[in-house]
Amino acid sequence: MATYSEFLAALVEALGADRVQVGDAVPPRHHTDWSGTAPVPPLALVRPRSTEEVSALLLLCHAHRVPVVPQGGLTGLAGAAVPCAGGVALSLERMNAIEAVDARSATLTVQAGATVQAVQEAALAVGLQFGVDFGARGSAQVGGAVSTNAGGNGVLQYGMVREQVLGLEVVLADGTVLPMLRPMLKNNTGYDLKQCFIGAEGTLGVVTRALLRLRPLPRAKATALVALPDFDAALALLARLQGRFPGALSAFELMWRDFIEASLRWQTLREPFEAPHPFAALIDVGGQDEAGLRDALEEVLGEAMEAGEAVDAAIAQSEAQARALWKIREATAELPANMHPPINFDVSLPQADIGRFAQECRAALSARWPGHLSVFFGHIGDGNLHLSTDASTVNGEEGAVEELVYAQVAAFGGSVSAEHGIGLHKKPYLGASRTPAELAAMRAIKQALDPLHLMNPGKVFDL
Ligand SMILES: Cc1cc2nc3c(=O)[nH]c(=O)nc-3n(C[C@H](O)[C@H](O)[C@H](O)COP(=O)(O)OP(=O)(O)OC[C@H]3O[C@@H](n4cnc5c(N)ncnc54)[C@H](O)[C@@H]3O)c2cc1C
Repeated sequence: MATYSEFLAALVEALGADRVQVGDAVPPRHHTDWSGTAPVPPLALVRPRSTEEVSALLLLCHAHRVPVVPQGGLTGLAGAAVPCAGGVALSLERMNAIEAVDARSATLTVQAGATVQAVQEAALAVGLQFGVDFGARGSAQVGGAVSTNAGGNGVLQYGMVREQVLGLEVVLADGTVLPMLRPMLKNNTGYDLKQCFIGAEGTLGVVTRALLRLRPLPRAKATALVALPDFDAALALLARLQGRFPGALSAFELMWRDFIEASLRWQTLREPFEAPHPFAALIDVGGQDEAGLRDALEEVLGEAMEAGEAVDAAIAQSEAQARALWKIREATAELPANMHPPINFDVSLPQADIGRFAQECRAALSARWPGHLSVFFGHIGDGNLHLSTDASTVNGEEGAVEELVYAQVAAFGGSVSAEHGIGLHKKPYLGASRTPAELAAMRAIKQALDPLHLMNPGKVFDL
């Protein structure tokens, strides 16, 4: 098409041929993301090396009305980084420098294409840690983690990515650069603009640099698996642990019996306690002295047993034992191999309602698909519940299962996406968690920052 060829010629002239790949030259891995969404070949893949180049690219796309889909490590689970036909896929992978690490102020400045793991390693090198960690750390990029407001393992202690971001540099759809990289925690000077871009899934602008907070590194860790009689006991134990270890409880992973049974079966593991129990919680606590930490954990778990909150407990005495306890929780990696396929949910709910939600959800699924296989587990301290159903046990009726579960989420006032975002996959259900007035406010922000609707069009909501 003539307009495309003019645009591509201008692109190559502005950025140089080594930054641009066109048509069949675009590697297929850039056609989709981890979510398994049907691939869409973009018009071109552009891999700039600097903020100035990103700005030049967006200016050009704006002038030629060409849509842009930012791509990070492509590990997103909602289809948000899938290109659009006739548009540019903008990969940040060449902008991967860790620019500065300041141990005294516990901050790190990084280009958006650096991986989460690279940030973690740079923090560790100065005796600190980055408070964000999740399974895709080796591929997921800072820009992707910011744009999905990723969660993962550190949320209970440090919050989601939003809580780790002190500043951002963002390029808007018309090429304007917003240099919001101020290293202050307190900055009440009107709207906190950077917040708009965190969790925006690339629909408002391109994140090019980030100024991140780092956290102290605990010297010791204690891990325990605790058997629980019911959901309320789990909440009581969580409160007890948070009171006893303020700010140091780093994991409280609750597993329902269905999950534990599936995990033991899939991984051929032994029952962790003498008898099966309705729930088990996997607990990590950080501190400075390993032996003292284990003693303190033993004491508080003893109190919990006396109070009837816990039925049994195993405290790991070594790193190997801790890993063995975590193995039960890590059955999530086995879902794709053992469910055909899994229908996965990542919802969040008011913490106190999670037990009742799970009960009612399971009852509703059983009423419609007797004998279905569903497993429940979650980061209960964060209000985040995961549910996976084996599609082969519900006649493959994935859409009907989603409608049922998301209707329950809406009834409980929860969120259809705790961590993974909306992208394409959850777009039909956004209204279950957002009122029409909230959606109108989101559209107004989109309209103000991207009036031509060029940034990641069709993701999160339609205009
Ligand atoms: C094995 C595995 C485990 C996971 N565990 C977790 C978990 O525990 N918690 C969790 O929250 N997520 C998890 N995820 C999901 C995923 O890793 C995160 O959402 C991650 O933050 C995505 O980063 P990415 O760089 O791969 O982004 P991509 O998938 O490339 O993109 C995701 C979104 O961000 C946008 N984007 C990317 N870079 C930029 C940028 N520079 N500027 C503007 N927009 C941009 C894209 O357009 C898209 O909308 C997991 C994924 C996998 C595969």
